[in-house]
Amino acid sequence: MEDREWMYSGWSRRSMSTEWLEQTKLFLDRAFSLPNLVENGTINCPCMKCRNDYRHIREDVELHLAKWGFMENYTTWSAHARLGGPVQNRWMYQFERAGVRSARNKTPRYDENGPSNDSSCTIDFFQYQGRYTNTQGSRILKPDEYKAAALYILTNIPEMYDFFVKFQKEEWKSIRVEPNDKHRRDLRLNGWKIGRGKRNGPNFFDWFRNECMKTSGIDNCLSELSYGFLRKVTSYGIYDINGYRFRSEKYENKRSGNASINSGVCVSCTDDEDNVTEYYGVIEDIIKIKWEGSMQLELVLFDCRWFNPTTGVRRSPNLGLVEIKRTSRLQTNEPFVLASQVTQVYYLSYACKTRSDLIYWQVVYHVPPRGYV
Ligand SMILES: [Zn+2]
Repeated sequence: MEDREWMYSGWSRRSMSTEWLEQTKLFLDRAFSLPNLVENGTINCPCMKCRNDYRHIREDVELHLAKWGFMENYTTWSAHARLGGPVQNRWMYQFERAGVRSARNKTPRYDENGPSNDSSCTIDFFQYQGRYTNTQGSRILKPDEYKAAALYILTNIPEMYDFFVKFQKEEWKSIRVEPNDKHRRDLRLNGWKIGRGKRNGPNFFDWFRNECMKTSGIDNCLSELSYGFLRKVTSYGIYDINGYRFRSEKYENKRSGNASINSGVCVSCTDDEDNVTEYYGVIEDIIKIKWEGSMQLELVLFDCRWFNPTTGVRRSPNLGLVEIKRTSRLQTNEPFVLASQVTQVYYLSYACKTRSDLIYWQVVYHVPPRGYV
């Protein structure tokens, strides 16, 4: 992440540092040498104005970057997850997957204490896991939950990128309208819709399974994923990852007298316009998903409820204070998040129980990692 600092530190509307000029040149040299980025001599322009939405030839991209600078959050963005539809069609993402090292495609640490994924699956995504304990039984995911979890997982696997591009090319039938995040999500979950709500195209899951069957040479791990995971998932009380100990609210409620509350989470997300929003939530359940097949793939997700990021969050930047309204809810069908994409927070109520401006609000505290592995 730090290696992109130069994009901002060396540029202002009036001047650019020598380092900025050199780095930008290298950056563009690499970008224009990658065949899957370049189309008719153009790439998606990452300047403030174009925000990857428009393609330009090199001279124009150079001019744009010098004039307007790189779009904001280019550095933070690469280190954060996007809630639902994380990284598709993002120029930076294509850039990273083409072999440029960054915070995101760094080889993750393999946790020997974690669940055994010692199969031949070479996808990084499945190597980076924590340790779960305190089984809380199992449950069956409802159809909507199942699809939401399945899409969330697939969109977070970098190796899936090309399939999403191909799917969209084949299944998005409108010539005039370019799909936005919402269209894209609907297309993936439900397939192309013709008039009066009738569907006449496959959803992504069916399309992808078919693609794996008819194409040779697709990674075995991806093929196994294409069959979908088991609807029955296991709940756990505790999950240790990235130095944090997370607990589900369900588990904490059963045990009174916990020394601390470990069910609060924060995740930073980027929307269509590259605005970053912080979502605050509570882990209701920690679930482990399993795929059938020889690789025995499994993955832990947090099943969360989220506070409303606009009406349920109050910020006082001068005090460095963030508060959440504990009764607010984000109406979403995307409750799931990967444990590796969140940081831990806890929510503290005000001692005063009579003032209406305080009674429903809680102060957010960010918890530093404590070395749980
Ligand atoms: Zn531009």
